[in-house]
Amino acid sequence: MLSYQVIENGKPLEARESETPEPEGSEILVRVEACGVCHSDLHLWEGEYLLGDGKKLTLADRGITPPFTMGHEVVGVVVALGPDVPGPDEGGVEIGDKRVVYPWIGCGTCDVCLRDEELLCLNQRTVGVRAPGGYADHVLVPDAKYLIDYSGLPTELACTYACSGLTAYSALMKTGAKTEADDVVLIGAGGVGLSAVVFGKSVIKGKIIVADIDDTKRSLARQSGADETVDNSVPDAVDKIREITGGGAAAAIDFVGRPETARFGLDVLRKGGTLVSVGLYGDAMPLAMVLMPLMMLNIRGSYVGTLQEMHAVMALARAGKVPSIPVAARPLAEANAVLNELRDGQILGRIVLKP
Ligand SMILES: [Zn+2]
Ligand SMILES: [Zn+2]
Repeated sequence: MLSYQVIENGKPLEARESETPEPEGSEILVRVEACGVCHSDLHLWEGEYLLGDGKKLTLADRGITPPFTMGHEVVGVVVALGPDVPGPDEGGVEIGDKRVVYPWIGCGTCDVCLRDEELLCLNQRTVGVRAPGGYADHVLVPDAKYLIDYSGLPTELACTYACSGLTAYSALMKTGAKTEADDVVLIGAGGVGLSAVVFGKSVIKGKIIVADIDDTKRSLARQSGADETVDNSVPDAVDKIREITGGGAAAAIDFVGRPETARFGLDVLRKGGTLVSVGLYGDAMPLAMVLMPLMMLNIRGSYVGTLQEMHAVMALARAGKVPSIPVAARPLAEANAVLNELRDGQILGRIVLKP
């Protein structure tokens, strides 16, 4: 099989041929039809996250060292089955089934995995991070339960739900917004932020307000269903949001993860509000401690989403309740060019690679 691998962090990916794996036990071999290129791939490629004050979290600190194959938004066709894979009537799959891969896979045997909270597992087998991913022509999946039907959806769009769609949905669920009075501010209308706009109407009853410094992204957010948009680089941006929300938002989701955006997210909250932190841009910020108790604020982190949330996302998408985000396909051989364009902020919506 052919893979485009990270051989050295930050250097161009290299094409490598290797033996196509034979599935064992409950494993399934999927021939990749498309794989999304995600912002978090940039961190995996470059090998580090910025923690502020010059400190860094490296991938080696997380136990991930090259060579490895990125790509966690994988869609493809089942081409080989391990001997223990159940048939379609028993919740399994058969050869020829077209499926999206749920990539956020735990060890499967520890306490949190057994209670379906695999994201909390300390020994993860994430496809495209800790197990070989979809920048390749084949991917091995450990169990049929991680393969999700996407009938009725375009193949190239379906794979984006495994990360950007799922991350957006899970973050929306963590806002705690329940009523029409609970407005939510989405900061950053890149790939994941735009997915949140698109899923927003299915989850949030109040207004969805998008803050982005880029005029093109704001207009794309409006076209995708945002009720209001605000340029968060202007001095009175916080006042504008207080005016729109009648005193402050119930929640803000920071899809960027810079000190400025997190600060903005906290500043627009009303009492008891929640900031959901999603973006991995990096760096650090000071926090006025008294505001936490006086304003009864919550800050919580959100990383991708659970298998149950993935099923909810796919059900919403298949029910036609989610307008599609712009998706463009490029050949797998252009993986390096696409990563560079993504790093330089030149991509609207999502690019998928096709082997
Ligand atoms: Zn991703
Ligand atoms: Zn586990």
